[in-house]
Amino acid sequence: MSERPDGRKFDEMRPIEAKVGVIEQADGSAMFKIGKTIAIAGVYGPKQVHPKHLEDPEKAILRCYYDMYSFSVPERERPGPDRRSIELSMVIKNALLPAVFVKEYPKSQIEIFVSIIQADAGTRCAAISAASMALADAGIAMKDIVSSVAVGHVNNKVVVDLNKEEEDVEGTTDIPLAYMPRMKKITLLQLDGKMPKDKLREAIALGTKSCEKIYEVQKKALKDRYNTSGE
Ligand code: ADP
Repeated sequence: MSERPDGRKFDEMRPIEAKVGVIEQADGSAMFKIGKTIAIAGVYGPKQVHPKHLEDPEKAILRCYYDMYSFSVPERERPGPDRRSIELSMVIKNALLPAVFVKEYPKSQIEIFVSIIQADAGTRCAAISAASMALADAGIAMKDIVSSVAVGHVNNKVVVDLNKEEEDVEGTTDIPLAYMPRMKKITLLQLDGKMPKDKLREAIALGTKSCEKIYEVQKKALKDRYNTSGE
C-alpha cells in the first residue's frame, strides 16, 4: 500500500481549523483552514441590488467573489480577477445556492467575498466551507450548512483532501465535492480527470463522510461564536 506524500491515511483530511466572526465590518464572516489552505469569507447583506435591473422581485440574488492573494502561492500571483477566479466564483455560488432560502429576501442581494490567503490545493472547497459559515453568521435563513472537501484518485487509490503535491501527480483525478449533511444532498461535484465507476462511487462516499466531519467543526465554530459574544 502506497503512503501519501505527507504520511496521511487515505481517508484522513489535513488538520482543520474554523472560526466564525473574523471581519468586524461584515454582516457575517468566517475563516476555514485545512492544512496550509486558508480561506476567509465575508458576507454583506441582504441589501438593495445595484444595478437595480438585476433585482429579482421573487428572491434574493447571490453574488460571489473568489480571489487568491498575490502571496498565497509560491510564485506571486497576479492580482485581480482572471478566468480561473471568475469561474470559481460561479462554482462556489452554485454550491451554496441550494442551501439559502432566497425567497425570504425578495428584491435584495447577498454578497459573498472569499479570499484565499494561502493556497495548497482545495481552495474552492475551503471557500465554500468558509462562506457557508459566514452566511449563517450573517443570520441568513438557510436549509443547511454546506460542507466541502475534494476527493480524488491518486496513484490508483481513492483519497480525501488532496494537497498540491498529490494534485500534481501524473494521472491524478480531482473531485471537488460540496454536501449538505442534514439534507444529505450533494451541491457540487466536479470531476477533473478519469477514474473507474466503482472507484468514483467509493470516492463520493468518502467525500460525503468527510463532509460530515467538516460539518461538526463548522457547527462548533458557530456555537463558539455565539457563546463568546453573548449575543
Ligand atoms: P483548487 O484550489 O480548488 O484545488 P485549482 O485546481 O484551480 O483549484 O488549483 C489547485 C491549486 O493550484 C491551488 O489550490 C493552488 O495551490 C495552486 N494554484 C492555483 N493557481 C495558481 C497560481 N496562479 N499560481 C500558483 N499556484 C496556483
